[in-house]
Amino acid sequence: MSKKYDVVVIGAGPAGYIAAIRAAQHGFKVACIDEWQNRDGKYAFGGTCLNAGCIPSKAMLESSELYHRANHEFKKHGIVTGEVSLDVGAMQKRRAGIVRQLTGGIGGLFKANKVDGLVGHGKLLAGKKVEFTPVDGDPEILDATHVVLASGSAPIELPFAQFDQETILDSWDALELEAVPKRLGVIGAGVIGLELGSVWARLGSEVIILEALEDFLAMADRDVAATAMKDFKKQGLDIRLGAKVSETSVKDGVVSVSYEDKSGSQTVDFDKLIVAVGRRPYTEKLLADDSGIRKDERGFIVVDDVCRTEVKGVYAIGDCVRGPMLAHKGSEEGVMVADLIAGESAEVNYEIVPSVIYTAPEVAWVGMTEAEVKASGRAYKTGSFPFAASGRAKAMEQTTGMVKVISAEDDDELLGVHIVGPMAGELISEAVLALEFAASTEDIQRTIHAHPSLAEAVHEAALAVDKRALNYINR
Ligand code: FAD
Ligand code: NAD
Repeated sequence: MSKKYDVVVIGAGPAGYIAAIRAAQHGFKVACIDEWQNRDGKYAFGGTCLNAGCIPSKAMLESSELYHRANHEFKKHGIVTGEVSLDVGAMQKRRAGIVRQLTGGIGGLFKANKVDGLVGHGKLLAGKKVEFTPVDGDPEILDATHVVLASGSAPIELPFAQFDQETILDSWDALELEAVPKRLGVIGAGVIGLELGSVWARLGSEVIILEALEDFLAMADRDVAATAMKDFKKQGLDIRLGAKVSETSVKDGVVSVSYEDKSGSQTVDFDKLIVAVGRRPYTEKLLADDSGIRKDERGFIVVDDVCRTEVKGVYAIGDCVRGPMLAHKGSEEGVMVADLIAGESAEVNYEIVPSVIYTAPEVAWVGMTEAEVKASGRAYKTGSFPFAASGRAKAMEQTTGMVKVISAEDDDELLGVHIVGPMAGELISEAVLALEFAASTEDIQRTIHAHPSLAEAVHEAALAVDKRALNYINR
């Protein structure tokens, strides 16, 4: 006899586990199936985000930044340390411990919310039935009134640079290296390339990042991208734009990478090579042939604006559907579909999804870039404020970067906020809230910001839109 559930979720990443918890909070009987297995052989909830993505990368970014500061900034503060040395093993142990705690925490959340967390493979059959195969048992059929597909994504592999987990690495391998590679190559100057390139550069690798496009951070505002590029170069990250990689070969643990750029054919040798050229939806063995679910030409599950698939009662969320591949986007979709299943009205505002790159300086933005506003034809005004004029940033010895605010000329509507600088990923939340509440720039101008705080730079940039910055000469 099959087990009955109101909601079965396949995938316990930030999209799926949030959907499961929210559905349980509505009083539904919920199961959430996941098969993620870590490299120590243990199964864990949390998906890419907690096990191999957001969380471990931020743990390594934090550790490596502290190491870098101890070597390069402490002296300025009058702190004398003697030689600072590195214990990569201890660093990795801390990362693994954080991952273990947080992924274990999801098990606890499932228990507290009465979600059945099922470890194994899930497959959607016709008629909203789900075949669940436990890792150590035989398949059983779950009968679901509603199904949520949240199977996530996987790294894109280049045919001429296939992952071997030794020399040519994906982002997961690159997070778990036990020693600092002397020469590290990265293909792709996107979010992963910059974050992981920064980690290992700070720990001592000579890093070269090869990016196919001529534009750096093509999706970001040009002013912000230019400031970030200048600073990354100063830190020693060798970012080569317009570099089209055509071939790699591995011999005696050294990988030779051939690429073409403006000056012709080049070859560079590395001890490790990270391939970070984007991710693809992961839907392997997820759907029976007669499940009725359609995928688009890039493999994404086809959904409408509120994540409904073409099969009534079946939803899909997170990285396996269109939209930015970001944990917070997936989680909000999880909340939305659970609320819709409960008969409530719900939506995700896809216009207001913040982006953050956790380098130093951090890069964060929300809303439209200046180029997008220009292309829309709407008249606009901009204001910016450099962290060099912020008392708090000076006290922190982190004065690189700026806040840029873009607003409409006609009615002062806030259109976009772009930040490169310290804690940009935290500062952007104010802008997200302002956009969500359809604030005008004047609303931010008239909001009290604590002093001294980095957030004052957002306040001042909003004032600068009308040439009223108080702590900087308006231009
Ligand atoms: P996933 O997290 O991929 O989870 C899907 C889960 O489903 C997995 O556990 C998988 O095992 C399971 N699964 C798949 N198919 C089945 C099946 N048939 N049966 C059972 N289980 C199945 N995003 C941010 O917002 N901020 C960041 O700082 C950030 N940093 C990142 C750093 C790195 C190195 C990487 C790789 C990604 C990062 N991301 C970040 C992206 C983020 O990790 C993803 O957007 C997010 O994890 C997507 O969530 P998801 O739930 O859709 O999928
Ligand atoms: P990405 O799309 O951010 O960057 C990939 C880069 O590789 C692009 O600049 C692209 O032009 C370049 N590229 C593609 N093919 C190439 C080739 N053959 N040679 C050279 N360059 C090439 O993808 P990613 O960095 O792999 O990250 C994957 C996803 O994970 C992203 O969607 C991102 O949103 C998410 N992520 C988010 C965060 C964060 O929010 N802080 C961190 C890491 C990852």
